[in-house]
Amino acid sequence: MAAEESKREVILAENLGFCYGVKRAIQLARDCASPKRDAFTLGPIIHNPQMVARLDEEGVGTIDTLDELKKGTVIVRSHGVGPSVYDEIKEKGLNMVDATCPHVRKAQLAAHALSGENYQVIIIGEKRHPEVKSILEWAGDKAIAVETEEEATEVGRFGKIGVVAQTTFSGDKFKKIVNVLLDKSPEVKIIRTICTATDMRQEAAVKLADEVDVMIVIGGKNSANTTRLAQLCAEKKCVTYHIETADEVREEWFDKSKKIGITAGASTPDWIIKEVYVKCQK
Ligand code: SF4
Repeated sequence: MAAEESKREVILAENLGFCYGVKRAIQLARDCASPKRDAFTLGPIIHNPQMVARLDEEGVGTIDTLDELKKGTVIVRSHGVGPSVYDEIKEKGLNMVDATCPHVRKAQLAAHALSGENYQVIIIGEKRHPEVKSILEWAGDKAIAVETEEEATEVGRFGKIGVVAQTTFSGDKFKKIVNVLLDKSPEVKIIRTICTATDMRQEAAVKLADEVDVMIVIGGKNSANTTRLAQLCAEKKCVTYHIETADEVREEWFDKSKKIGITAGASTPDWIIKEVYVKCQK
């Protein structure tokens, strides 16, 4: 899509913005909105403060822990949770709407099954990410998470290793870490649970960064997948700005630029992408 009357060309990446799992989670949360304000997501529904605020206005709040809720509905977000959280929700007699992304669910169940077959489960992903924490919990006490090749080198030797991935992990990094793990056991079972939404957004961003003078990457500063998009564009030696809203766009960024590219993370709402697009055209 290009601006018709502007001397600048503003191009949107072929794949950007909300993925299937996020769209689904937000719809499920919206379906719970009521004037009673008795539905809450456990943690922010997505890593996007503007969307969280909008949902709050619509009547769906956020809680950080289940201790904050005595009655009502708890919405499990797309990153998923471990079995102990489902148990606690049941014990407290709360209603539950499970918005765990089906791809994340697949990774959780794969880790659980591998652990049941006595594999040493290794999750390749960011240890502190809520999704990885949830997969770890499904895999039982002995599971470990590794994030880098160095960490994989330090892993001990095991009779059987079962590998799953954080759904949003980089495909390239996953391959490199798996190569290290192949030396750690005679039997390594790999279940590549990386979601294509991430790959597609990254490929489209890198392709566009090659064609334009400036890349604008839109999404929460706390969103791992948006931050990764910005890193990849910067690695292409394209001047890159990571912003959350159109208010942050600065006219001087485009002084010497004829072509501006826009991409957005999987948790960036369409209305914000549109506002940025319009502002860049001015
Ligand atoms: S990025 Fe993929 S795994 Fe994550 S929520 Fe979106 S569709 Fe699901």
